[in-house]
Amino acid sequence: MPVIELLESMEKACNSHYHNQSLLLLLPLFLSLLVAGLAYPTQNEQSQIISRFQQYLQINTTQPSPDYQSSTQFLLSQANSLSLESQVIEFVKGKPVILLKWPGSDLSLPSILLNSHMDVVPFEPSKWTHPPLGAYIDEGGNIFGRGSQDMKSVGMQYLEAIRRLKLSGFQPKRSLYLSFVPDEEIGGYDGAKKLAYSDVFKDMNVEIVLDEGLPSTDENYRLFYAETAPWWLVIKSNGAPGHGAKLYDNSAMENLLKSIESISRFRASQFDLLKAGLKSKGDVISVNIVFLKAGTPSPTGFVMNLQPSEAEAGFDIRVPPTADIESLEKRIEEEWAPASRNMTFEFKQKATPHDDLGRPLITATDGSNPWWTLIEEAIKKANGKIGKPEILTGATDARYYRQLGLTAIGFLPMTNTPFLLHDHNEFLNKAEYFKGINVYESIIKAYTSYIPPGRDGVSRDEL
Ligand SMILES: [Zn+2]
Repeated sequence: MPVIELLESMEKACNSHYHNQSLLLLLPLFLSLLVAGLAYPTQNEQSQIISRFQQYLQINTTQPSPDYQSSTQFLLSQANSLSLESQVIEFVKGKPVILLKWPGSDLSLPSILLNSHMDVVPFEPSKWTHPPLGAYIDEGGNIFGRGSQDMKSVGMQYLEAIRRLKLSGFQPKRSLYLSFVPDEEIGGYDGAKKLAYSDVFKDMNVEIVLDEGLPSTDENYRLFYAETAPWWLVIKSNGAPGHGAKLYDNSAMENLLKSIESISRFRASQFDLLKAGLKSKGDVISVNIVFLKAGTPSPTGFVMNLQPSEAEAGFDIRVPPTADIESLEKRIEEEWAPASRNMTFEFKQKATPHDDLGRPLITATDGSNPWWTLIEEAIKKANGKIGKPEILTGATDARYYRQLGLTAIGFLPMTNTPFLLHDHNEFLNKAEYFKGINVYESIIKAYTSYIPPGRDGVSRDEL
């Protein structure tokens, strides 16, 4: 039973008419927690934890003009209250990266980085039941606010976990860094990407990065080991223009439609694998048509008796790192935009599915990666359950770290929570928020204490 839940039931017990009886029943649990050395958050501490989260939610870091000055001030004051080292780096003016450090006792060991982004996506206030920047808490304990899931919650949970670890007297062996980055919601180019490729980052000697994931609607936490790469493809066809009444081959429109038919068939085949449960969302190549552009404009619409000489279509393709890239490239060249049908193509964006060392952008989930085993064990230790490892269908800052060849794991400590990232009425329940702090406490403990076999002069086999 997590500490917080126990606390809540104890409070209920205290307020009930069966005061003495209930307290007696809970006494053994309470004692076992004391033995386990866990800090005991009082009602007052709980409301302070929630109030700090509310303060962060109330800072308007909404794109496209986030108030990073206020979020920086707030985070620095939090760091100060926790005696963490801090620095603010502006790789791009007005776009601060806040870097906090809890130094480890063994500086020869690589460090841990916990990342979160400060910015949030815009909202339509009229569609919300409670103000998106209000951090209102309803009687069910749901905290409403843009960023309550994505991902101001996580940033604050890291800090709260550190607060509790410090109170318990814990000392990390590895150094622990926290980065609060700008602009993730618009690509992270001026935030996490700049940090990942900086000298500052090299000096940090990071081995593992934790970044955001997605909430789970059931009881299992979700862990992400990779993400799909966006390929934004524009195909263009050319052909002789002609009279609208004439039937002839190779018109631009005909050629484009043939491609669209071929792409639609491919889309259906991928969708079938998903529907049949043979593959999961992150394992299929998704293709969606996002624009069509053709026709000869006239003052009242389009010229109706003319077949145009050019036609264009755009597609948002998401490629999992497990996909056969070469065969997809070949398909585009030979079937979707073949030169033989007077077609050309270009990519508006084509994210590489490989890291800087040429390996697929995947974090290992087997025994070869101690960080995966450690996070699973740590979550279980905090009474959490875990689902199957997943590929995230979307882009996060984690990709910049995987690109460098580092281990990066996507995680959002939210179970039994509706998926409301970027949606109206984004909220997180208090109880889930507290549980998440417990989970991070457990992860930070495990990660910062980890010494690889052989480093302590004794191999695992000898132990
Ligand atoms: Zn996010």
